[in-house]
Amino acid sequence: MLTVEVDAGSVERRLAAGELSCPGCSGRLGPWGWARRRVLRGSGESMLAVMPRRSRCSLCLVTHVLLPVVALLRRADLAEVVGRALVAKARGSGARTIAALLGRPPDTVRGWLRRFDSRAEMVRRVFTGLLVDVAPDPVVPAAMCSVFADAVAVVLGAARAVLIRWPRLGEVPAWQAASAASNGRLLSPSWP
Ligand SMILES: [Zn+2]
Repeated sequence: MLTVEVDAGSVERRLAAGELSCPGCSGRLGPWGWARRRVLRGSGESMLAVMPRRSRCSLCLVTHVLLPVVALLRRADLAEVVGRALVAKARGSGARTIAALLGRPPDTVRGWLRRFDSRAEMVRRVFTGLLVDVAPDPVVPAAMCSVFADAVAVVLGAARAVLIRWPRLGEVPAWQAASAASNGRLLSPSWP
């Protein structure tokens, strides 16, 4: 599994040109059918249907799904929606309030928060490393009242640093950058 840009045409072009490399062995990825279509929930009632491209490595022959950065692995909600929940929690809101704000069931929101909380320290460490690598003059956010809030702050800081360093990427929302940096696994049990 590999995260790619949202623009399917651009993904096709890069696949055809052999510009995408295998996360396992750095061989070239070529087109290999499609993964199943899925409908992802965005802000409010909005929906986004995606049919991720499947690719196969020319060297190790392993197939990889190319997940658009708007998505998170095995989550039906877009990264930006989950990200808004995490930011609200870091600012002190409870799951029930956040659920009402986002129009999601409280149990769903509680699940995201619990999962993020269980790995907050690791997220904080990984994204601090990214921030220090990327920013020309890195300012690591000051410690806040919880590891959860620290992790959210550093994810946002790293995303901003990525945008400053590579302005040609254009306006990539913070949580899409976070999804890309964690290869879509921000809330998944295993990390790369
Ligand atoms: Zn490979």
